[in-house]
Amino acid sequence: MTNESPRAEELTYSATKTGTRSILPDNMISVEEARARILEVFSVLPAVETPLGDAQGLVLAEDVSATFNIPPLANTGMDGYALRAADTTGASYDTPLELHVIGYLPAGAVFDREVQPGETVRIMTGAPMPPGTDAVVPFEETDEYDWTKADAKYQQGDWQNAPRDRVRIDVAAQAGANVRAAGEDVRAGEVVLRAGTVIGPAQIGVLASIGVDRVMAHRRPVVAVLSTGDELLRPGQPLVPGKIYDANAFSLAAQVRAFGGVPRILDVALDTVEALTARIHEGLADADLLVTSAGVSRGDFDVVKTVLAAEGEVGFWTVRMKPGKPLAFGRFNAPNGKRVPHLGLPGNPVSAMMTFELFGRPAIYKMLGRLETKPDAWQRPTVRGIALDRILNTDGRRFYARGIATQDNEGAWQVRLTGPQGSGVLTSMSLANAYAICPEDTPAIEVGETCEIMLASCVPTEVVDRESLRVEL
Ligand code: AMP
Ligand code: MG
Repeated sequence: MTNESPRAEELTYSATKTGTRSILPDNMISVEEARARILEVFSVLPAVETPLGDAQGLVLAEDVSATFNIPPLANTGMDGYALRAADTTGASYDTPLELHVIGYLPAGAVFDREVQPGETVRIMTGAPMPPGTDAVVPFEETDEYDWTKADAKYQQGDWQNAPRDRVRIDVAAQAGANVRAAGEDVRAGEVVLRAGTVIGPAQIGVLASIGVDRVMAHRRPVVAVLSTGDELLRPGQPLVPGKIYDANAFSLAAQVRAFGGVPRILDVALDTVEALTARIHEGLADADLLVTSAGVSRGDFDVVKTVLAAEGEVGFWTVRMKPGKPLAFGRFNAPNGKRVPHLGLPGNPVSAMMTFELFGRPAIYKMLGRLETKPDAWQRPTVRGIALDRILNTDGRRFYARGIATQDNEGAWQVRLTGPQGSGVLTSMSLANAYAICPEDTPAIEVGETCEIMLASCVPTEVVDRESLRVEL
């Protein structure tokens, strides 16, 4: 073990091997400490030119400016008649006036001659204002609908060849009425998005609106995901006695994707040093993070520990949290000389997901550059709310109970649990939209007491009752 992984060494390989719970608390680290140590090892990945369609969730590496106005030309915000506002002075339903219709202008075209006093152009939303006009009177304030109802050609959709000479204007227009000014949204030369901005749907829309099809953004981390265990089958294979399906590779890969990374699922590694070593080497070449599940606890075949120690540097931590106490973290020596951070998660499916939520997500966010401007950007929103179920916390760890959080009519939060909370009960996750957090030093949260609720949007927001899924057989 080298100095590059400071403080990772004092832990608990030997402590956990003794198997006695009584000595564990001395060696336990808090969730916060584990996260801080993990984050130290990661840095922001380089910026690369990225097609706009792949940019969602990435962080802009440079300011982006517009080279022209948006909208480029003043245009109409309504379907109607473009005219000179002064021509409509005094118009009302009792005293309508008439203008001479000199043309029709759909969106996408420009009108090529100056509109004179007494003239108007029938115009569609988004079309540039014809020269000379300064207002649009919407169809509703004209005799448009009387006319369109009566005109056969118009009814066949042949609008352009259904010209009309005159239109009745029923309401006086103010100059500028229903006109969207050039540059109203964005001015030429203006910075529309700053470096450090997280690119979401609206930012993608803005970039497209200024004609940008590629951006410089920090690239997505590639995360190799490796399941270990002799008992594992891949979904799709026939079930055999004694075996279980590999849930972790898929839930973890989905988390990687949801957090903004690119998952790479490696073939399952059997519980032998050779198999594991080979698999890991295969997966490391272009990975920015290796995530393994299982093999870090105290079982006879938990070989991840052995391989890790031989192939890199690693700390084995017991984190004061439930689910998900054992955790390995270190760096692996890849065949190409790279040193790849490794997060060794517990095998129980709930623990694996929970630890990846608390430690993998921040790591991915850091690599994406999302922590540069907001160091706690990985944090989920938390609220305080009433526990509708008792939350029992027996062993002095922080308990993340899977729950369904709802708001009552006054907006107050409440949370009930999703049923059995064992760390192998993965449906407790799939039914949850939140975690009710019971602090380390609190043995129980009683019904009606207030607790902290972490709202987790990677799980469905629609509330499903466990009972409603059960079918009577
Ligand atoms: P371990 O950490 O190897 O002792 O595994 C703890 C528990 O998690 C055992 O019951 C394993 O069968 C289970 N487990 C390990 N890996 C997976 C996986 N990829 N998918 C589902 N369950 C797993
Ligand atoms: Mg195992």
